[in-house]
Amino acid sequence: MTPRTITVLGATGSVGASTLDLLMRAPEAWAVEALTANCDVDRLAAAAKAVHAKLAVVADESCYAALKDALAGSGIEAAAGKAALCDSAKRPADIVLSAIVGAAGLPPTLAAVERGATLAIANKETLVCAGDLVKAAAAKSGAVLLPVDSEHNAIFQVFDHAHPERVTRIIVTASGGPFRRATVDAMRSATPAQACNHPVWSMGAKISVDSATLMNKGLELIEAAHLFPVRADQLEVIVHPQSVVHSFVEYIDGSMLAQLGTPDMRTPIGYCLAYPERMATPSARLDLASVATLTFEAPDHDRFPALALAQAAMRAGGSAPCVLNAANEVAVAAFLGGKIGFLDIAAIVADTLAGVAAGPIASLDEVVAIDGEARRVAGALIGSSGRVAASARRRP
Ligand code: NAD
Ligand code: MG
Repeated sequence: MTPRTITVLGATGSVGASTLDLLMRAPEAWAVEALTANCDVDRLAAAAKAVHAKLAVVADESCYAALKDALAGSGIEAAAGKAALCDSAKRPADIVLSAIVGAAGLPPTLAAVERGATLAIANKETLVCAGDLVKAAAAKSGAVLLPVDSEHNAIFQVFDHAHPERVTRIIVTASGGPFRRATVDAMRSATPAQACNHPVWSMGAKISVDSATLMNKGLELIEAAHLFPVRADQLEVIVHPQSVVHSFVEYIDGSMLAQLGTPDMRTPIGYCLAYPERMATPSARLDLASVATLTFEAPDHDRFPALALAQAAMRAGGSAPCVLNAANEVAVAAFLGGKIGFLDIAAIVADTLAGVAAGPIASLDEVVAIDGEARRVAGALIGSSGRVAASARRRP
């Protein structure tokens, strides 16, 4: 059997590590073309050696010398910088897995799509900011998009792709995050450690905070609107704390199909790696008797205003989701850095959306410009003194 070739963008993160775990369980089946990271040189070099990658790339050029040192004598090529990151995504590989966090993943992800790659996409911010561009590029190049995000992977598995008109609703499940039952006062004083302490999933810091605000679910609605041919008003969220049902698709006859599984990203990642076949994964099997009860509840929009902000941005379309995403990235980083409180995250996103004029987006340059403008506005709201501007504080 000829090994399949793969490139993993964001190989040192949580999704990257789960992906490499699967690759290393079947080394004869995979030839790794390239692995990338931002700057975590030690992890990247160790991973590149473990899977015998041809190339390792750090996006941050200042980390190049350290990477070259760490790879000395291994025969693995080292490269650095944003252009090198895009070049790595363009190299021939049967599959590119995009697991960079944030809008920083857009240029290399788009580069892979323009090359016509089969793209397993975890990097939801890319679809939120530039879903239309990514889809247009895929239509032109013949690239295939496979969703890694567990909810979208679930939907993909049960969606009638040949007959989308038979689908009436997509219901995206949410765990509810660590503050599902918290009071507003507790949320106001929540620490980054508390916000990152997700009850079900173990993930990178940014998506963990997004799960605590429910912004993650909002981003996922926008992601779903790009990945599946449905209208915004057909997309709903239901809180399901057990995270066993990974989403539902409802059909015209009233049937609801769902995909279930234990919360282990190796299941959706394995689905994408093997597509259109299936592969064995080490994910724990679902023991329904011990799960015993599955519960569902409506999201609380009062305590989690980020969800409605994302829904409004999804309906507005154009640049609004990009502004929402950029402001959220800045606010989450400020929260993780101890500069703002937990409730300030949604307030800053709301004020940034109000402060940046919305309009259509037609090119990568326009996305970059709007993203930069939103980051400036959000940064100014956070304020040079590290205190949130009064206008942002007044909001929930
Ligand atoms: P993470 O923070 O653990 O890892 C992020 C990766 O991106 C790292 O390899 C890091 O080096 C790289 N990176 C960070 N900034 C970069 C930059 N500026 N340029 C280039 N590379 C950069 O994140 P994660 O939890 O693995 O999430 C990755 C993506 O997958 C996110 O978009 C997230 O929303 C999505 N996702 C994650 C999970 C999960 O279980 N972790 C589930 C569903 C979707
Ligand atoms: Mg998800």
